[in-house]
Amino acid sequence: MVGNKVVVYQGPGRVSVESTDYPKLEIPAEVADAFGIKRAAPHAVVLKVVSTNICGSDQHMVRGRTTAPVGQTLGHEITGEVVEVGDDVLFVKPGDICSTPFNIACGRCRMCDERKTGICLNVNPGRAGAAYGYVDMGGWIGGQAEYVMVPYADFNLLRFPDRDQALEKIMDLTMLSDIFPTGYHGAYTAGVTSGSTVYVAGAGPVGLAAAHAAQLLGASVVIVGDMVDDRLAQARAFGCETVDLSSGDALPDMIEQIVGEPSVDAAVDAVGFEARGHGENAGEAPATVLNDLMTIARAGAGLGIPGLYVTGDPGGVDENAKVGQIGVRLGLGWAKSHRFTTGQCPVKSYNRQLMNLILSGRAQIAKAVNATRITLDEAPQGYSDFDRGAAKKFVIDPHGMIPA
Ligand code: NAD
Ligand code: ZN
Ligand code: ZN
Repeated sequence: MVGNKVVVYQGPGRVSVESTDYPKLEIPAEVADAFGIKRAAPHAVVLKVVSTNICGSDQHMVRGRTTAPVGQTLGHEITGEVVEVGDDVLFVKPGDICSTPFNIACGRCRMCDERKTGICLNVNPGRAGAAYGYVDMGGWIGGQAEYVMVPYADFNLLRFPDRDQALEKIMDLTMLSDIFPTGYHGAYTAGVTSGSTVYVAGAGPVGLAAAHAAQLLGASVVIVGDMVDDRLAQARAFGCETVDLSSGDALPDMIEQIVGEPSVDAAVDAVGFEARGHGENAGEAPATVLNDLMTIARAGAGLGIPGLYVTGDPGGVDENAKVGQIGVRLGLGWAKSHRFTTGQCPVKSYNRQLMNLILSGRAQIAKAVNATRITLDEAPQGYSDFDRGAAKKFVIDPHGMIPA
């Protein structure tokens, strides 16, 4: 019988690749018990993982900034080949190469009916919404692995139309499981449209994906802010303007120098609760980005907030931050009638159209985020390089299936 290998959290700053069982067509016991349903999952498939990416969301866990226990399996950005199907899987077939939305969704509840797959009601006993390999997300096993089980497969999986074409474009298509839809969701819910001026906070992979999405939506200018030089250079490499928040200059002034006024039409938070303050060597200041967005977004603007905020943070800067309460100046945004969109990106709302943009050659997401292939054994090194601010999106290739 084939075994399996998976990336596992081993405590702050440490991950390892461990041997584990080949996946069963079975849902987690905690989910089955909570909802009074059977564990056997004839609606599930096993995927042979073709590519699986390291995400900033994983880093929150690996930095010890969540309640993830040692032993937590990792990996929610999964693209794979179907190798086993349950009896109730009707339309996905062995051999299909598919993108897996990081949100696990049942396809049968009120939220799934409304395509709000990030807050499915039947997949996590603790709250709405689930994901693979993530703390408080239902106990589903992570996909930074050789093989992974995907439940409700006919609903969740996005099948690529042609196998050879999929493998050829895999470094782009691999971004459909999370960051391309997530970045797009940030830009779209911020209201980006033809001619918009846009500010994106964060030049990590999600920020760069949001910036590229804003370009695809027709923005006239996209300004990306960060304090890591290489990441800002990466944003400039595909036509963005940049602002360096370590410079100590005021953000509205830097924006005015670029667009002629100190405000923009739409703004995206691609940073989240580990945000740092402005200025050289500034420490962590978790409300910085939310307050920046309300400061520089014009009246009536939308704020897209894919950046993650938590309800519990053992490493929070103070007692309030430890329970996710941060110093947001809501009055700033209220006075301008801002709209906010938060939460998990409902990947299924966007992934098919974004796949079409990739396959037609209109979207260049791998280039925008500097997609970089590594092996499964190199995952620990990938995590530490990413944590140090490498201007790369690491794509793990567990079976050597990604063409050179
Ligand atoms: P990342 O850690 O690689 O990038 C974050 C970047 O923000 C870093 O480059 C950092 O230098 C920069 N930064 C820190 N403080 C800043 C500030 N004040 N202003 C501007 N930039 C600042 O992470 P990523 O992979 O790009 O993910 C970004 C966020 O999106 C994370 O919080 C992640 O959990 C979240 N995320 C959310 C979803 C969703 O569905 N909502 C999906 C994927 C990722
Ligand atoms: Zn992710
Ligand atoms: Zn559901």
